[in-house]
Amino acid sequence: MADTKQLSIKRIICILLLACAVSLPADTSFAQEFTTDPMPALEGGIENEGQLEVNKAEPKLVIINPGHGGSDLGARSPKNFLEKNINLRLAKLIKKKFSFDKEIEIRLTRQSDRSIEFFRRVEIANTAKSELYISIHCDGGVGPRKSAVRLFINKPAAAIKLNDWKSNNNKNDRKNSIIAEKLFVNLKDVVGRNIEIVPTNLLYLGGLSMPAIVIESIDLSNPEDEIRLRRDDHLINIADAIAKGIRGYFVATDVGR
Ligand SMILES: [Zn+2]
Repeated sequence: MADTKQLSIKRIICILLLACAVSLPADTSFAQEFTTDPMPALEGGIENEGQLEVNKAEPKLVIINPGHGGSDLGARSPKNFLEKNINLRLAKLIKKKFSFDKEIEIRLTRQSDRSIEFFRRVEIANTAKSELYISIHCDGGVGPRKSAVRLFINKPAAAIKLNDWKSNNNKNDRKNSIIAEKLFVNLKDVVGRNIEIVPTNLLYLGGLSMPAIVIESIDLSNPEDEIRLRRDDHLINIADAIAKGIRGYFVATDVGR
């Protein structure tokens, strides 16, 4: 009986050891998922893990500059629409389009009717390291007239002449063209006029270190634009088109990075 009992105990110990030997590798790999770098786990093809990494990335920062403000009124229409107010309203409408967007963050250079020095606006964008700068202005001059909507981008490096402003922004030639093209495509059906993309040598565009564009989607000397401004949906439609242009820009430039 004693021998039989000892044999039984040995058999039980053997079975337990065998069970441990079989289960040990599985337990170890289970623990490794929580203790090692997450990348080896991705090799197993857990696709959602990769998507989570993308979502955790910092949002792309876009600075929107509502031109003028305070005592600097900008252009004025015959019926006294003021450029500074239209610029601010449009900038706020664009920002609102990204309220729930986790991938793109919009900041304005001014939130209210106040004057900001010209180069302070450039400094704000450069210091914040924004990825894109969009300056909102209206056209205006001696009217009545019917000129095209203009989108200003920095003159390409190849077109710079000896006495031109040598620009930081020229390194962004390709991206400047992409944002102009994306805005052109989205704005053409809402502005009611032709659109021109104008390469320029504006000093402040050159001072910016990121891709940048100036949009003049309203002409305060154009009687038809003044009538359109009486409808609340006109600026909303323009804001929607600009927001689509911004999203299209990031899709296009992410691929080519
Ligand atoms: Zn202006």
